[in-house]
Order: sequence, then C-alpha cells, then structure tokens
Amino acid sequence: MNCQQAYQLISAAVDGELSCHEKEKFFQHLAECTTCTEEFNDAMKTKLIIKERIIRFTAPQTLINSIMHLTHHCAQESNL
Ligand SMILES: [Zn+2]
Repeated sequence: MNCQQAYQLISAAVDGELSCHEKEKFFQHLAECTTCTEEFNDAMKTKLIIKERIIRFTAPQTLINSIMHLTHHCAQESNL
C-alpha cells in the first residue's frame, strides 16, 4: 500500500469501516509511514471531538472501547 491508497482509507478506518484485510494493510503502512500516521491521528482526533460532543452524557468507556477495537488487528472482524 502506498500513501495515496492509505490516505483514501483514512476516513473509513476512523469510522471502523475497513475490512479485516484492508485494516491489516492500512495499519501496516501506518507503522512505516509517519505522514499517514499523523493524518490518521488528526482524523481520529477530529472524530473524537465530534463523538465527545455527541456522547458526553453517555459512558465515555464506550468510545475508548471503539477506539481500542479500531486499532486492534483483525481480532474480531465483525463485532461492530
Ligand atoms: Zn503513507
């Protein structure tokens, strides 16, 4: 995967919409590429801010869990 391909997957990755295979390739690229890692972190932060506003009155643990789930490699593909 190159940066362009990774870049196209960032928003899907943030939303947890990548397939197991895509996720693996994507995070593999991130491990080697600081540029895409930063892009991904920025996108994640933006999502967190938005989500935080939405789920402020619900358990914050839910969000943490979903982030943990996103960063896990293929542990449970269809657990969303
Ligand atoms: Zn890259």
